[in-house]
Amino acid sequence: MADSGSRSLDLLDRGQTPAEAGDLRDVLYSHVEALFPLCRSITGRGLRQTLRYIADRIPLEISEVPSGTAVLDWEVPLEWNVRRARIRSLDGRTIVDFARSNLHLVQYSKAVDRVVPRAELERHLISLPQQPDFVPYRTGYYADDWGFCITDRVRQGLTEDAYHVEIDATLEPGSLSYGECLIPGETAEEMLFSVHSCHPSLANDNLSGIAVAIELARALAQRPRRRFSYRFIFAAGTIGAITWLDRNQDKIRHIRHGLVLSNLGDSAAPTYKQSRRANALIDRYAAYVLGEEGHADRVRPFIPYGYDERQYCSPGFNLPVGCLMRSPSGTFPEYHTSADNLDFVKPEALADSLRIATRLVDMVEHDRVWRNLSPYGEPQLGRRGLYGKIGGVPGNPSGGAGAIDQMAMLWLLNLADGEHSLLDIAERSGKSFDSLVAAAAALSDVGLLAAD
Ligand code: ZN
Repeated sequence: MADSGSRSLDLLDRGQTPAEAGDLRDVLYSHVEALFPLCRSITGRGLRQTLRYIADRIPLEISEVPSGTAVLDWEVPLEWNVRRARIRSLDGRTIVDFARSNLHLVQYSKAVDRVVPRAELERHLISLPQQPDFVPYRTGYYADDWGFCITDRVRQGLTEDAYHVEIDATLEPGSLSYGECLIPGETAEEMLFSVHSCHPSLANDNLSGIAVAIELARALAQRPRRRFSYRFIFAAGTIGAITWLDRNQDKIRHIRHGLVLSNLGDSAAPTYKQSRRANALIDRYAAYVLGEEGHADRVRPFIPYGYDERQYCSPGFNLPVGCLMRSPSGTFPEYHTSADNLDFVKPEALADSLRIATRLVDMVEHDRVWRNLSPYGEPQLGRRGLYGKIGGVPGNPSGGAGAIDQMAMLWLLNLADGEHSLLDIAERSGKSFDSLVAAAAALSDVGLLAAD
């Protein structure tokens, strides 16, 4: 299995120099920084600008689906765009301004321009008394209403009888945008990555996933060979994924593995949420990688709530799609507030998340079923020059470059009966998946193993 070329190009592989690793952290963080100010929503200009930013970096096909289009059990909504939104005192002081933070306006607020008595305004305000300095993030996609999100501290200072509310926004027929990047491999079988891209100025909850996906796609595109094809979808949460699923039912049968990427920039340990199937290969790969890194306790069962794994894992599709995160949604105090900002996301965490996603891709690429071509008795390894490559034995005690783990080789020869995958053998033997990959390469080079 000629995989040395592809592994040397893994952005975060072991051979990488610290300078390159530092650059990558900066690159990942720069995506979050660049996209942070845009007012994304499930439709509209901010989402489109975000997709164009991604398209400048990886090959991205952008689709526009007209408002009113029926998609599965839903309908593509009207397109929402905002020019200005603010609350002013009657003497002209600006109290709340969308230009300062796009979280201030409840998403899909309709246009308003009038003086509103304070008691009425109060019914349109959302604040967090327990977190008085955070602006909450709220949406009202199908509410036909308007509202502002403000800090509770500002709210407590609203003592005048009336305020001038001005929302210059349009809600009209347009389209829903999503982006798709396909990196073809040797087979049409695909690994899917899905990233919701509809949140405005929130850094961890959704920009971290976008940043990691951009760099993962770029690294995959640079690999000289890929067994699998890789598809990245950047779409609005729920309605975007539903729209993609509706329009791509012919592609769904190619999906062998999938990951929703979200909340990948905070400092918590990595978390994996299982697919509905719970025992899909991606579930086993993630459990293996997190277990090997000491995070076995961060594997969570599937629940029908969270990100777009809800759609991919709905019973009609039941795709093998899990969710890779650090902090799960709703479990951190900064979640869906103005505190999910550029300080909350760490370059090191982004890079670590990319490293873990890359490990999962490597398992997808390298896990296969091998067959021992000399299964009657142990084959003579010395005659084939393999003992010289074995580490941990006299003559090659430290292993060194190209060293093969002897026990990995013996386990592989024993269990490569056409029925056990490398993951099966890793789980049963306790030998690392990587050592088995190296052993398989050495044994197939001398004609002792063939891929099934
Ligand atoms: Zn969210």
